[in-house]
Amino acid sequence: MHKPKFDRRQLLKGALLGAAVLPALRPEGADAAALVKLTEDDPTGKALGYHIDAKKVDAKAFPTYKPTQTCLNCVQLQAGTGNDRGCNLFPGKSVAVGGWCKVWVQKP
Ligand code: SF4
Repeated sequence: MHKPKFDRRQLLKGALLGAAVLPALRPEGADAAALVKLTEDDPTGKALGYHIDAKKVDAKAFPTYKPTQTCLNCVQLQAGTGNDRGCNLFPGKSVAVGGWCKVWVQKP
């Protein structure tokens, strides 16, 4: 019987290892560069009261806002570096780390 030149188990191990290692090799910010900046006019952003600059949030219009809250300390901000990063609530978009929206939740 013909014996394969490679072991299927070894091939599968290699594929799994490659899948685990490749994301770690991506340059920092590569994902953020592919994202479109969320604007305050974006319908979803507007619905959630997104502000590019948290300091400009009108506390009367958004009573849950506290001056210490920014995207940077929100649990929904995705890992990365730079001033614009992904947010779990806005797929395909990036938010300003100094921004804010009304579903802000403290990062643990
Ligand atoms: Fe910023 Fe958090 Fe709102 Fe995303 S969910 S826009 S990180 S405050």
